[in-house]
Amino acid sequence: MNLVLLGPPGSGKGTQAKRLQASHHILQLSTGDMLRAEVASGTERGLRTKETIEGGHLVADAIIIEMISDRIRGEDARRGFILDGFPRTIPQARALDEMLVREEMHLDRVVVIDLDDDAIVERIVGRFTCESCGAGYHDTFKKPKIEGACDACGGTRFSRRADDLPQTVRARIEEYHALTEPIIAHYEAKSLLNRVIGMADLDDVTRQLEDVLAFSVG
Ligand code: AMP
Repeated sequence: MNLVLLGPPGSGKGTQAKRLQASHHILQLSTGDMLRAEVASGTERGLRTKETIEGGHLVADAIIIEMISDRIRGEDARRGFILDGFPRTIPQARALDEMLVREEMHLDRVVVIDLDDDAIVERIVGRFTCESCGAGYHDTFKKPKIEGACDACGGTRFSRRADDLPQTVRARIEEYHALTEPIIAHYEAKSLLNRVIGMADLDDVTRQLEDVLAFSVG
């Protein structure tokens, strides 16, 4: 099963993709995670994109397309993948179409997680992650049960994304409306699109996603 998860920043794409990866044994391909790893290890691609990412802007299509086409060709993507954070522009969506034809693959579903702009800012500003196991927390909505220790693994080191500041989040929302939303029509025209309500709690969004998949992929 090959999926695309679309949605504004903060809609929970990453969390839901991880859950689907575990329940369906398919690979999560997050371009945001790939870029952050490149920035952290100081690769050439990381150095070229750091400023753009931290400013809340989209990285050039050519860089992203090259990065993702390397990963889609990987043996581990053959059993199925969830694209999380890609495509994000019409040229990226067209490049994905071409990539899939070349690799004799296809998309089963494209699911949009809908969320209002006000809720986006509220959710993103204040979120942080355990550095050891990746569990996600929030200053207001989800504090660790014991302050300073991860509920899942007991880790005591946490990190915040450099692009989660309020002014950067606003830039990311604007780019989502201007550049990413138009690809919804691209997939609607191919009868691949479903929507789920992102305002619901995490488990409810997972249930909505599983329903879409059960109904449309079988
Ligand atoms: P994310 O983790 O998906 O929110 O992505 C974090 C940042 O990485 C974005 O704000 C962009 O700067 C960059 N990025 C991730 N995926 C893409 C993409 N498909 N196209 C352009 N930039 C991207």
